[in-house]
Amino acid sequence: MKIFLRIVWFVMLTVVTQVGGLVYVIHLVLYHKVWKPKKWKWLKRQASFVLLYAFVWLIVIPPLAKLNNRRPLPYINITTLQPQNWFTVFCNRHYVHEDLYYTMEAVSEDFSNQSADRMGGLTLNYLDANFPFMDGFPLIPHLSHNDGKKLDLAFRYNSNDESSSKNQTRSLLGYGVYEEPQEGEIDQTAICKRTRWQYDITKYIGIPIHSTLRYDGAETERLMSLLIDSDIEKIFIEPHLKQRMGLFSDKIRFHGCHAVRHDDHIHVQIP
Ligand SMILES: [Zn+2]
Repeated sequence: MKIFLRIVWFVMLTVVTQVGGLVYVIHLVLYHKVWKPKKWKWLKRQASFVLLYAFVWLIVIPPLAKLNNRRPLPYINITTLQPQNWFTVFCNRHYVHEDLYYTMEAVSEDFSNQSADRMGGLTLNYLDANFPFMDGFPLIPHLSHNDGKKLDLAFRYNSNDESSSKNQTRSLLGYGVYEEPQEGEIDQTAICKRTRWQYDITKYIGIPIHSTLRYDGAETERLMSLLIDSDIEKIFIEPHLKQRMGLFSDKIRFHGCHAVRHDDHIHVQIP
């Protein structure tokens, strides 16, 4: 039973953080074969694992990822681009190819500069990006975030009581609380759900935290325009929002019914 639970834990850590499973195995060996404490065993085991993971996360991974042309998106010393939540960062899901890093740095600087009169410039929120290592290693549940060249961005929102655009999202992880189609707009979710059950599966992780926030169509459109004018190759967003924005660009594509709905975030990728 112990072995079974250890395997489950290894797989879970690997799926969620990529390197966590490996850290877990190294920790097991060090703890049981080298350290072998006699007292406070449970506490020492948990604390030492957290410390080892933190060491690998902070010191070991970034320089090794650089050898793979990937680097972490900003999470301290925030200027114009920030993580929507710390889960993304602690789980190593914030790594991108160098080219995508510089592209997003430029887009977020333009976005902020254009809004310098509001809150000293608005900051873009990023969601899931990629893991630091190995092309082809999937960042579950995303189908394509496996080569450093994909990134999800949060929509822009504002609140009922303040007119300024907010650096916050409506849901805890930035996914799963949707900007639904309005009357007369394409309802792609209804179309896809006829043949694909998983199209709205992200609703199960859509934990609302800022229910007073409203989707800011003008600011999201401003972000989309900057993305279209940048080195980004493809942009995925739900067809009814593209229709509502009135944007025409061959960079904006439909992601297909085999993916999940994109009326809670924007997906971008480089060649
Ligand atoms: Zn994506």
